[in-house]
Amino acid sequence: MADWAATEGLTIAIDGPSGSGKGTVAKMLADEVGLPVLDTGLLYRLTGSVALKRGVSLQSESDVAALVDCLLDEINWTVDGIFLAGENVTAGLRSEQVGAAASQVAAMPSVREKLLGLQHKLAEKGCIMDGRDIGTVVLPGAPAKFFLTASVRERARRRWVQLKDDSDSSLEGVLEELKVRDQRDAERQHAPLKQADDAITIDSTTLRVDEVVDRMLGVLERRKLIARSA
Ligand code: C5P
Repeated sequence: MADWAATEGLTIAIDGPSGSGKGTVAKMLADEVGLPVLDTGLLYRLTGSVALKRGVSLQSESDVAALVDCLLDEINWTVDGIFLAGENVTAGLRSEQVGAAASQVAAMPSVREKLLGLQHKLAEKGCIMDGRDIGTVVLPGAPAKFFLTASVRERARRRWVQLKDDSDSSLEGVLEELKVRDQRDAERQHAPLKQADDAITIDSTTLRVDEVVDRMLGVLERRKLIARSA
């Protein structure tokens, strides 16, 4: 049983750049407070990956938007990952190539718009949602918002360690790709990576995951959004 009980329907937004530790932190926090965690990056990664596989041009917003219309009928997005035609395809979406395609399709307003309804629907019963625009666009009314950061070098190191077994990318190569992705995500016109005014920033460069989670639990407890389980 979780150590904490969350108030009914509680939504927690965790945003931040690639490699800031959002996914790991969100999972540990979810275990503590007994909420489901939803990784919104998977929606953009799946769209980018299927576009690459089906030869849909990443330069054509209308073609990618049409692809999303088809995908919305085929996908099942759950706390266990994302399923396409019944198969869990999450593990295949982690590469840097898919990450780069994801950030290209994520810059398309109509694509974001089409994926918004699904995110709202799944958040209805309460969840921890992680991404880039959760606190600003997807769940602007969330009672707790965190913005996780870390130095670009540390974020690249973490990504490199994650990818090492499946690719021969160098640390410098991962660092360069990360900088390109950061820039595209922060400079896009629609729903850029940006801290919500009411979000709490946590710099995780020198913090362990459990230290970040402890800070979050402290905020949630002070706001009376969670209480110790009986
Ligand atoms: O978080 P992750 O690295 O899986 O996200 C992949 C890409 O999807 C990001 O670089 C970003 O461009 C996009 N994304 C987004 N909005 C979100 C989540 C992810 O634009 N809420």
